[in-house]
Amino acid sequence: MDDCIFCKIGSGELPSTKLYEDDRFLAFLDIQPVSLGHALVIPKEHYQDISQVPEGLLGGLFGLARCLGDETIAETGAAGFNIVVNRGVAAGQVVMHAHVHVIPREPDDGLKHWPKKDIPEEDRERLAAALRDRLG
Ligand code: AMP
Ligand code: ZN
Repeated sequence: MDDCIFCKIGSGELPSTKLYEDDRFLAFLDIQPVSLGHALVIPKEHYQDISQVPEGLLGGLFGLARCLGDETIAETGAAGFNIVVNRGVAAGQVVMHAHVHVIPREPDDGLKHWPKKDIPEEDRERLAAALRDRLG
């Protein structure tokens, strides 16, 4: 897409700190990292979010994200990593080209997971039944 920053990074029109590249995917360092090694994995083709990425690409996309996380651990001794996808503006997606975050973690790095919420049992059960129908 013409005005998409990640399309331009994928095609090489804009610079990035590349970590891996093949004909379908690119992995590069996030410009505003939350930890050393925070990286993004993108399909080179434009899809606005993860829901639009074809099934046939998902395995490669997440496989590369896992491989990158594992190799980062091997290189730096990081204690773990988060694989994160923000899908939609409400979920924090800012760049509307599908991407997977790989975020190296240390035990006391100060990054916090989400606070828990009490959801009424009847709401949980109703949603679970509806989703079982949809996924069934
Ligand atoms: P999201 O909130 O999931 O859309 O994340 C977008 C991510 O892209 C953010 O973590 C940004 O720091 C990162 N980002 C934006 N522009 C660039 C760029 N030119 N090079 C590398 N990372 C970028
Ligand atoms: Zn794009």
